[in-house]
Amino acid sequence: MLKYRSYTATNIHELPQYRNIARDLIHAIKTVATVYPFRVNNYVTEHLIDWTNIPDDPLFRLSFPQAEMLDECDFERMSALVRSDADKALIGQSAREIQLLQNPNPAGQMELNTPRLGEEPLHGLQHKYRESILFFPSEAQVCHAYCTYCFRWPQFSGLENLKFANNDVSLLVAYIREHSEVKDIIFTGGDPMVMSTALLRKYLEPLLDLETVKTIRIGTKSLSWWPYRFTRDRDADDLIRFFEKIVASGKHLALMSHNSHPREIETPEALEAVRRIRSTGAVIRSQSPIVRHVNDSPEIWEDMWQQQLRQGIIPYYMFLERDTGPKRYFEVPLAEAVGIFNHAYRKMSGLGRTVRGPSMSCSPGKIIVEDVTEINGEKVFALKFTQSRNPDWTNRLFFAEFDETASWINDLTPAFNRKEFFFEKEMGELYSCYL
Ligand SMILES: *Cc1c(COP(=O)(O)O)cnc(C)c1O
Repeated sequence: MLKYRSYTATNIHELPQYRNIARDLIHAIKTVATVYPFRVNNYVTEHLIDWTNIPDDPLFRLSFPQAEMLDECDFERMSALVRSDADKALIGQSAREIQLLQNPNPAGQMELNTPRLGEEPLHGLQHKYRESILFFPSEAQVCHAYCTYCFRWPQFSGLENLKFANNDVSLLVAYIREHSEVKDIIFTGGDPMVMSTALLRKYLEPLLDLETVKTIRIGTKSLSWWPYRFTRDRDADDLIRFFEKIVASGKHLALMSHNSHPREIETPEALEAVRRIRSTGAVIRSQSPIVRHVNDSPEIWEDMWQQQLRQGIIPYYMFLERDTGPKRYFEVPLAEAVGIFNHAYRKMSGLGRTVRGPSMSCSPGKIIVEDVTEINGEKVFALKFTQSRNPDWTNRLFFAEFDETASWINDLTPAFNRKEFFFEKEMGELYSCYL
């Protein structure tokens, strides 16, 4: 057993590396942590971060808040409050004002994707694409550590918590019984792997008897943030046995592993976790956004995908950072992202080309930036849905005017003088406001 120990803005002075961190950096961390979630743990600080290279170290940038994540005037405002040791309520109220201006609910997730059972809205479920549903267990609305770029930051800042989560698996089962088209149940959070094996059993076992469910996916960052979950935690062996049981039931069990940087899957702890998970028959697929300061180079992606292939992890998605929270600090424009993707992709053998991206998860669907090309003398982005609200849109190509600085679908204009993208009219009829 290895004890999990977390560090937040409140107890950061207990970090063994505390003295290595410059005073102004500590102050910046405490300041930004009033607005965005901050938590690391003893695995991250001891095995992932290169303390000789802070603050530039990508794993430090990934887990410790940076001053530039806030607009300068917001930073100054919170900085003054933190420095003067202001009243907690005042700090909280000022932070909330800033949070509410950071687009805390992008892509209309709450309004558009919450399904109904009879008349009742089913909170903690999202059914956006015909074949799959997302389920947010109440107990999984935290992570072993937080990523600075997290697009679900409002859940960890007390803005969304209750509305997004559910603890009644019988509702999930009832919903699936009425929706035989759903093949994949995706457990997400937070991180479902923060739950005990007993809790995971509570949520997952009832699904094993449902004929229409073919795949159980678990979205998790635990291979990076706490690989002991699969090796040395008290109920790790029990977890491995449970994974074996899921596989034996005939379901496909897929761990959707969030890996941002090759270093995360190089440690002996992570390697051992991967080995144990794969020994159960579960498959690990990897996905991550491309973000500035963490993984914005083709070499990092090539290295990461090669490592994953070697370990039997299947590269799955490269995402673009959603338009929320500290997006501006982390964003990589579409043109640069597709350049990085293509560069790394071309270095892979066919086995690594299971990965798709860069992908924008936006209100109409998941849109891949396929390439930059020229058609009739016009420089354009070639775009394609890999998932869409209307399944008929999937795999359709469409084009937008090239724009070097665009970083999201709503920065784009349809190419060839079209007034709108092909899906916009129907999307507008379905929903009054979107994108
Ligand atoms: C990404 C996503 C899925 C899963 O899509 P896949 O392409 O099958 O991985 C399901 N539901 C929502 C809401 C999503 O954003």
